[in-house]
Amino acid sequence: MALARVQGIFATVLLLSGACYAAVEGSWCYDDQVCGPTTWDSLGHCGDGRQSPINIISVKAVFNSTLGPVHLSGYDNYKKLIEMKNTGKTVYVKLKDGLFLSGNGLPDVYTAKGIHFHWGNGAAHPGSEHCIDGKQYSMEWHIVHTRNNLSIAEAMDDPQGIAVLAFFVQASDTAKGKTAKAWDSFSKNLPKIAKKGSDTDLKSTVSLLDLIGPTNLARYYRYGGSLTTPNCNEVVIWTVFTDPILVPSKVVAFFPFNIRSTDSSVGPHLYNNFRPPQGLNNRTVEASSFLKLRSAASRNSQLVAFVLLISGVSALGVLPI
Ligand SMILES: [Zn+2]
Repeated sequence: MALARVQGIFATVLLLSGACYAAVEGSWCYDDQVCGPTTWDSLGHCGDGRQSPINIISVKAVFNSTLGPVHLSGYDNYKKLIEMKNTGKTVYVKLKDGLFLSGNGLPDVYTAKGIHFHWGNGAAHPGSEHCIDGKQYSMEWHIVHTRNNLSIAEAMDDPQGIAVLAFFVQASDTAKGKTAKAWDSFSKNLPKIAKKGSDTDLKSTVSLLDLIGPTNLARYYRYGGSLTTPNCNEVVIWTVFTDPILVPSKVVAFFPFNIRSTDSSVGPHLYNNFRPPQGLNNRTVEASSFLKLRSAASRNSQLVAFVLLISGVSALGVLPI
């Protein structure tokens, strides 16, 4: 029992200090042919068939009318973000207990444990993990939850033990307003954790909802997959929101500018810390009901436009071919 407890604590520390779940910390990396994502197949489950991230093909997604908005409880509380750390692989923010995710398609209530970020190299080099119809966004960030507040070790034994909310970030030179200010304020902490292993207590006034901004929580894709870092355990219910969060370009560039992948203040910058899309294989990606409403409206407007075009050009005596 004592051993199990030690293992549980160890696993929790790994989650808190790693990216999605860094069970083999140090044996993998992002931007090096020797240890980069193409070499991960031999690590844990990374070579299995239900891996993440994926490229979501919107026209192939299956609408599920029961998938309404996700319900978030406590995410407006800025006191829940308690510590920010440079793990050498990402920026990790530890969350205090009391943040709960629920909704149709999720078998239980899930408790948020932490958030972390994936980025490219500034506004010009995108770094999201998931893609939609081949589009890669500037950044992607993940809120990692466990089912019924399971320990991380327990969650790894449950095929639905982890729920991750994934949000895209799009760099924008015109982003402003409350959400842009929240990201600007949040990013002010990055210089304090430049070196791998460094951390800082957060005394910000930014909540998770402030970072989520106006993202429509009813518009998302849902599928079963894996952690995107070794050991790539296939225990994740993914919710990938379609509406990107617009963040000032300078804030997006601030991540690779400040964060270094070693414990030296002059060590290499950390950038391109994303895993490329994996094979979908025989999985189905579901689309929430609000995505169907939107696409139906879009189709109708296209039909109206086409009718107008036909009637307009017919009046001129020309038919489109
Ligand atoms: Zn992640």
